[in-house]
Amino acid sequence: MEVRTTYMTVPVATMASGAEVRIPIHEVRGRAGDGPTLGLTACFHGDEQVSMEILYRVLLAVDPTALKGRLLVVPVANPLAYEALSRHTPLDMQNLNRVFPGGGEGFFTHQLAEVLVAHVLSKLDYYLDFHAGGVTLPTVDYLFIHNAEALSRAFGSPVLFRPPDGYGYPGSASAYTVGRGVPTVTVELGGGPGDQTAYVQRGISGVLNVLRTIGMLAGDPVPPPRQIVLRKLLTMRPRTGGFLVPEVTALSVEVPQGTVLGRTLSPYSFEELEVFRAPFEPSITVEVLVRPCRINPGDYGYMIGDLSTAEA
Ligand SMILES: [Zn+2]
Repeated sequence: MEVRTTYMTVPVATMASGAEVRIPIHEVRGRAGDGPTLGLTACFHGDEQVSMEILYRVLLAVDPTALKGRLLVVPVANPLAYEALSRHTPLDMQNLNRVFPGGGEGFFTHQLAEVLVAHVLSKLDYYLDFHAGGVTLPTVDYLFIHNAEALSRAFGSPVLFRPPDGYGYPGSASAYTVGRGVPTVTVELGGGPGDQTAYVQRGISGVLNVLRTIGMLAGDPVPPPRQIVLRKLLTMRPRTGGFLVPEVTALSVEVPQGTVLGRTLSPYSFEELEVFRAPFEPSITVEVLVRPCRINPGDYGYMIGDLSTAEA
């Protein structure tokens, strides 16, 4: 029988140690007919492990005999960052998701971006990019509306964010594909030190529903739940490091302005050093810290949406 799922790796560079850095790509060619190419990527940031697990389980869940078109799946887009469990590439401390389209004249991370463009991002008709909180700190749950609102909604997340320019972060992989007119969805789902089971399940069902929505799988898509579309989202980063004790740990919940989200204490004297409060009336939690944790100034702390300016 013809093999319809191919695993390949493409070379990026050879390290000083002689170790080769290669990008992993799973290609699933559907047997149910011709169709578009959907790209699924994870671990542009190496500490977003749950995103890789979601893609693993999506590959187990998709039956190639029922699929039209083709999937290109990259479970780990930045192998060096994944190895180090680091958001950035340890070699040059660059953020892979801010350097697209990259270029061979740049740092290693720019070279990595260029290879991802050549072998994956330039070949797509649709694109879903998975992100999460890093394994040690925050847990997140929202999804971007870039240029494909129906697809973003079909993923089924309760909270969506419409960036003012449609692009999101400059230099991101999604900004590259949006710039080329490829319907693109950036998913922010899970992460942190808590149980990831529910986020993995949501990721699988979200991808399957997107596949039904674009006709790559048969069947009617499941209608999305009631969804909130935010236009204003505030990232609250600590000014002071220490031991953070969370008070609000639930995601997608409405809280009144001023609600204490968490407190940073000195891990030595236990003196209170910083208090995070809900900034909007009313606020909705988009990213939270679910467990007491060590935190540094500038780390991801909280992301809070402004419900007063949200779309009905
Ligand atoms: Zn990320």
